[in-house]
Amino acid sequence: MNKIYYLVIAVAALVSFVSCNNDTDLDHKSIFPDGVDKTTQNEFDLWVDAYNELMGRDFLRQYSPRMIQLIGSAEYKEDSSEVLGTAEGGMKIFLNKVNLLDLKKPDMSVIRFYYIKTMYHEFGHILQQTKNYSTDLNTISTDYQGPSRVNVGDYENGRDTEALEMGFISAYASSEPGEDFVEILSFYVVYGKEYWERMLTLVGEDGAEKMLRKYALIKNYLKTKWEIDIEKLEQIVQRRMEEVPDLELTALD
Ligand SMILES: [Zn+2]
Repeated sequence: MNKIYYLVIAVAALVSFVSCNNDTDLDHKSIFPDGVDKTTQNEFDLWVDAYNELMGRDFLRQYSPRMIQLIGSAEYKEDSSEVLGTAEGGMKIFLNKVNLLDLKKPDMSVIRFYYIKTMYHEFGHILQQTKNYSTDLNTISTDYQGPSRVNVGDYENGRDTEALEMGFISAYASSEPGEDFVEILSFYVVYGKEYWERMLTLVGEDGAEKMLRKYALIKNYLKTKWEIDIEKLEQIVQRRMEEVPDLELTALD
């Protein structure tokens, strides 16, 4: 369990959720105590350092969740949609399906989708709930689906362009504006600019225009409210993810 604990702490500090629940009461204290620098570093700290590299260490100390709970199995909602993670009050994150992780033969697509993107998604909620974003973002798309988003075709889970054509990066993004926001953020940073631009070629003019307007607002929000340069963050995360297959995961202790 120790190894997975380190993994998730590292991913968490990199800090994302495809499907999640979240509350709005936030606590700005960090999971990382002041003495965190004295703990033994391991190779996975490469991951931790994505936000640290961009923002400096105080940023995550102040805003990262204080507790991460790992659940081995999957979780499903009544509508049969899968919950990859949950954030509670900005303090606690549950990460599901940890048993999928094979440390001896890490599958990068699994790590990227189930863990890294999920953590970035959820940390996106922490940011948006801590500092308000422009309500303009809520009006660009007028066809949010609510729970019916489970019926929307999704590119990442089936190569279906339905959500994209509606102007959403994923089916989950079509549920409501807050999810749309963090899905754009987490897909852009974790799947990368190239993926984002490829999606824009699949969406049709109307969908592309909506996605680009929403992205511009998110980029501006991150810059003006947080001094986060999303382009730089994307570059850092992409570079670090390329290093993951070379890590000796089983050597972590
Ligand atoms: Zn969410």
